[in-house]
Amino acid sequence: MDHFQYQGGRLCAEDVALADIADDVGTPFYVYSTATLERHYNVFAEALSGLDATICFSVKSNSNIAVIRTLANLGAGADVVSGGELKRALMAGVAPEKIVFSGVGKTALELADALRAGVMQINIESEPELEALSRVAMELGVEATIGLRVNPDVDARTHAKITTGRGENKFGIEWTRAHEVYARAAAMPGINPVGLAMHIGSQLGELSPFDDAFMRIKDLVATLRADGLAVESLDLGGGLGIPYGDQAEPLPGPAQYGEKVKAAFSDLGCRMIFEPGRVIAGNAGILVTRVIYVKEGATRNFLIVDAAMNDLTRPSLYDAYHDIVAISEPAAGDKSDTYDVVGPICETGDTFCRERSLPRQAAGNLLAVRTAGAYGAVMASTYNTRALVPEVLVRGGDYAVVRRRLEVEDLLDIEQQPSWLK
Ligand SMILES: *Cc1c(COP(=O)(O)O)cnc(C)c1O
Repeated sequence: MDHFQYQGGRLCAEDVALADIADDVGTPFYVYSTATLERHYNVFAEALSGLDATICFSVKSNSNIAVIRTLANLGAGADVVSGGELKRALMAGVAPEKIVFSGVGKTALELADALRAGVMQINIESEPELEALSRVAMELGVEATIGLRVNPDVDARTHAKITTGRGENKFGIEWTRAHEVYARAAAMPGINPVGLAMHIGSQLGELSPFDDAFMRIKDLVATLRADGLAVESLDLGGGLGIPYGDQAEPLPGPAQYGEKVKAAFSDLGCRMIFEPGRVIAGNAGILVTRVIYVKEGATRNFLIVDAAMNDLTRPSLYDAYHDIVAISEPAAGDKSDTYDVVGPICETGDTFCRERSLPRQAAGNLLAVRTAGAYGAVMASTYNTRALVPEVLVRGGDYAVVRRRLEVEDLLDIEQQPSWLK
């Protein structure tokens, strides 16, 4: 459910017509719906009611400070994977005691920043990282609260580039060694292990991989406790999939996920941490773009639009499907055509979709690429010296630019010439 609907023939974000925003800020741009963000957060929280749960929004899925703040106002914490994301979460007003610091390559500087900020816990992904954190904590004279990220070696059956819980992936500590490493952590100076963490992948289309992972985590809790080691918290990561419009079967939602979590963990008496990203932000955002040309090729019709793979990289990177709709509501009886929707970048990979049936288009028309609120703007670049796409947040009848377009002039400004070329 989202709040991007036609009103009087015009596609709106809540009560704001997207064409009006396009006139004001230009295209392309991302737009997020506050009501959708809030709804998704509340549905997720509701599914976990009864658990002692902290919902730490995965900042890497959408790191706009206004988006994080919108969620923090509802009680969300943050899951961050870099020192930069930590800064964003703090700027957004997320309480440090609701911030989890995850990631496979945290540097000593980042670890020190997290300890100084007083984050809830740092999830440790390797023994060298554990040793580094111990040193940093000793230097600062503090004790680091850690979760041990376990790699449960299950196949999340999602896209290869976003699966993280296989034995061969770079993430976490092999579950067969987790006991030993946890015991080692407990004996280390400056380290206080409070629990386990897992995250097996993103855009999971079924829940059975969670079942397998949960069983392994549960077993591990039992053996750690039998050894006299305290396990007070469990961080189950994120990963719930969302409909992008191409799924044949309805996807399991937060309610079914919550049932599974409760069935597996209710009796363990642990504080629970969740790190949803996509399921909160994905359907809460769209990318608006304008048709530059309609090009009739030898065998295909191309809609060449002013957004490209640098603005939304998911189709080219993950072969991801995104629904694309016209911003003017098609009327009954309107003709449709089959198009490849492509950007202006000089790569064939710069293609949003192939042979898609759309209402017949003309240059100047506006289109919306749906379900672009997660892993959209955060992955945008300036490839081909294109301006960095702006972000707009809507709330009811109001909207605000929450990240301005970084213009080409801004990009050129950060370059300088060496003396020998002046
Ligand atoms: C990416 C990531 C998430 C969020 O994943 P979603 O699929 O967007 O829910 C959560 N936790 C960690 C550690 C991650 O790397």
